[in-house]
Amino acid sequence: MIKTATHANSKLVAYSIYEDLCNGSYELALTKIKQVLKSVCDAHCLPLAQTWSPCAQQGRLGCQKQSIGCMSIISSTSYLFNPNVSGLYKACTELHVVHGKGIVGKAIGTNQACFATDITGFCKSEYPLADHAKVFGLGGAVAIRLQSTYTGPTEFVMDFFLPSDCRSDEEQKHMLSSISCVM
Ligand SMILES: [Zn+2]
Repeated sequence: MIKTATHANSKLVAYSIYEDLCNGSYELALTKIKQVLKSVCDAHCLPLAQTWSPCAQQGRLGCQKQSIGCMSIISSTSYLFNPNVSGLYKACTELHVVHGKGIVGKAIGTNQACFATDITGFCKSEYPLADHAKVFGLGGAVAIRLQSTYTGPTEFVMDFFLPSDCRSDEEQKHMLSSISCVM
């Protein structure tokens, strides 16, 4: 169910963010990431996009799994295009994901985009919000890691939900290539 594809263009975004990080402008880097998410969602009516980073990087002291690379959402960089899925967005802000789990956990180990045709098909241990996604009528989702060669030790994974009516292989394929074009 998970497919991967190379996204060379994400290097350009990552490079610009890398410059901010080098200049010590972490907040500016986050602002830039949010702009990317907003422009992609606005252009393609994607209901929700979020940015993940390691809990240790965010200083989430309450997370017990920081030492094993647990990831969570940077809520200030999320972009909610469709207010109807705000319930899913809220649930996501509570979520912690470890390496190898779901598309976000898989994206962290690769410089390729990780795509799921239908996240509602995941079991709970793989993606605890599969039931939520079903309630909100969502299916396809893609996670893209900003290339670490540019961001250094700072890790970011961007995660986009596809529109609920984007279901067929062809539509999803087209949407994925559109997302990578904007980026
Ligand atoms: Zn965590």
